Amino acid sequence: MKRLTVRPENRHQAALLRLLRDGERSRAELGDVVRLSRSKLAVEVDRLVALGLAEQSGLAASRGGRRSGLVRLSPRLRFVGIDVGATSIDVAVTGGDLEVLGTASEPCDVRQGPAAVLDRAMEMVAKLRAQGLAEEVHGVGVGVPGPVSFRDGVPVAPPIMPGWDRFPVREAVSQELGCPALVDNDVNIMALGELHAGLARQVADFLLIKIGTGVGCGIVVDGNIYRGVSGSAGDIGHIRVDDFGPACACGNTGCLEAYFGGAALARDALAAARGGQSPYLAERLETRETLTAADVGEAAAAGDAAAVRLVREGGRRVGLVLAGLVSFFNPGLVIIAGGVAGLGHTLLAEIRSVVYRRSLPLATGNLPIVLSELGGTAGVVGATRLISDHVFSVD
Ligand SMILES: [Zn+2]
Repeated sequence: MKRLTVRPENRHQAALLRLLRDGERSRAELGDVVRLSRSKLAVEVDRLVALGLAEQSGLAASRGGRRSGLVRLSPRLRFVGIDVGATSIDVAVTGGDLEVLGTASEPCDVRQGPAAVLDRAMEMVAKLRAQGLAEEVHGVGVGVPGPVSFRDGVPVAPPIMPGWDRFPVREAVSQELGCPALVDNDVNIMALGELHAGLARQVADFLLIKIGTGVGCGIVVDGNIYRGVSGSAGDIGHIRVDDFGPACACGNTGCLEAYFGGAALARDALAAARGGQSPYLAERLETRETLTAADVGEAAAAGDAAAVRLVREGGRRVGLVLAGLVSFFNPGLVIIAGGVAGLGHTLLAEIRSVVYRRSLPLATGNLPIVLSELGGTAGVVGATRLISDHVFSVD
């Protein structure tokens, strides 16, 4: 397969491409932002056109004098985002502007291992391409539900991903699609999705708390993901909230994730159903093999007291950890996302009340804590944002 390595040749071209990612611009506007003279700008724009990364698209409205030419990204540019979850795969194809052109979503157990799961993801990408959505692919971003060494493009000892430790995900996907690839954990790509298309668009410093099967935190500092020295920043699911708590998948006890998150809620829901505390969940269990976090959400919405208590206790523990993070980081926004965020406003209310009570007024005075509005697309959009940041750079 032909390997496409079309990249900007210098930082001016990279800056122009990132501007054009947000939409068509006139040459005059581009010149104002990248601070190049008209002649130097023309040279760089002409190179981007010659490289097939941008094209002329008509004339702008007059600002007085000669009308400025419009420039846009090449409409042939395509990025692919792949969001591997614990129990599903989501895929999206976007244009260079990261507008979603097509998506696919399938249930898939990440414990099947990297070969089977990535094969499945590649089939999903192939199906979208067969619909004519992407003749070429210029970059692919991948999110996985575990710790990732971003530099090496590999998961490292991921607790819920047996068989994936050190598997070369970035290399495998890059080879398969013949384009640059980057791999990050699912929480970071969700945070990038919020930064690009969600509630954090105007916010440079924020936290995204993902409550899915596990719990994690995306940290955005000055518009960039903060990954820490080895890539494990934000792994808040394993902050200990009680010395004598339940055992966690990581081998410790009393981790936040061992108390709350999709897996813990399913466990507690089963106990409540079997122990007779929840008539609603007990009735549901009669027709199913097991219970999930979604069942707890429905039970709570229906007013089942045991389910409401589970959601409140979970929210309180997340709130305690988050209060510490807020005191430490002083974010401008906190977004709660992930499947368990579907528990909605009961959960949010509990988290808010603990954080507002426990953190200092200076940190919380202007701190919105909100539920994500992107739903399932945050991850795939964030994955394309991740790879487009790389392709539109000279790194
Ligand atoms: Zn743990």
